[in-house]
Amino acid sequence: MEIFVEKVIREFGTRDVFEIAERIGVKIVYESWFPVTIGEFDNRNKTICVNLNAGVKLEKIIAHELGHFFAQEFNLNKAEEEKFAREFVEVLID
Ligand SMILES: [Zn+2]
Repeated sequence: MEIFVEKVIREFGTRDVFEIAERIGVKIVYESWFPVTIGEFDNRNKTICVNLNAGVKLEKIIAHELGHFFAQEFNLNKAEEEKFAREFVEVLID
């Protein structure tokens, strides 16, 4: 994951999640819902929906959903993709 994230940072010249989202053409919208999930990534509409009720830093939510975006280039099952998104946040932000 470290190598993948380094590649992303090099490609976009930043580790800022808002800038990365803009560069890949992913729109960010903000909503509030019962906090079962922290956010959603809608691939068809290239939109990240952030749950303002999640109690998690917005940057982390967006990084997680960007992880789902970047996971698409690999052939992962749901559990693997979730793990990928979690690790993406850890390496990019923490
Ligand atoms: Zn996820």
